[in-house]
Amino acid sequence: MKTKLVRMAVRKKIALVAHDNKKPDLLDWARYNRGSLEQHELWATGTTGSLLTRELGLKINTLESGPLGGDQQVGARIAEGAIDFLIFFWDPLEPLPHDPDIKALLRIAAVWNIPVACNRSSADFMISSPLMNQEYFRQVPDYAGYQRRSIPTG
Ligand code: PGA
Repeated sequence: MKTKLVRMAVRKKIALVAHDNKKPDLLDWARYNRGSLEQHELWATGTTGSLLTRELGLKINTLESGPLGGDQQVGARIAEGAIDFLIFFWDPLEPLPHDPDIKALLRIAAVWNIPVACNRSSADFMISSPLMNQEYFRQVPDYAGYQRRSIPTG
């Protein structure tokens, strides 16, 4: 499949999401990286966003809580290009009512080839990358062929 380049500005559009058991980890990570995070446009699911705003005073665009549709809102914004970076500390030891939404969010992030950190060490590597402070062109498959595919109409 051909690819096209999608521009990510210096100021990234970052979504932060953490499941309840992982919220302390995300909060601690965000506290340590507060200075870097505030250089970017921040988004979060409801409870994660409220917590980050309350504890760290970060300015965050807060969506609905994850299980109430927030994960799907993040996914929709990734598809629209309004979010281009995902920090998602998901809980590998707990089944959750919105497991299909979690899978869908991770899938749509892969579809659009956005950077995803699923745990603290990957988030550490990503936030300290020199690419965080540069414009970056990410390769995205050119889905035009798929969009123009012929559909049997009967
Ligand atoms: P929350 O959602 O930030 O509203 O807790 C996180 C999630 O479960 O996706």
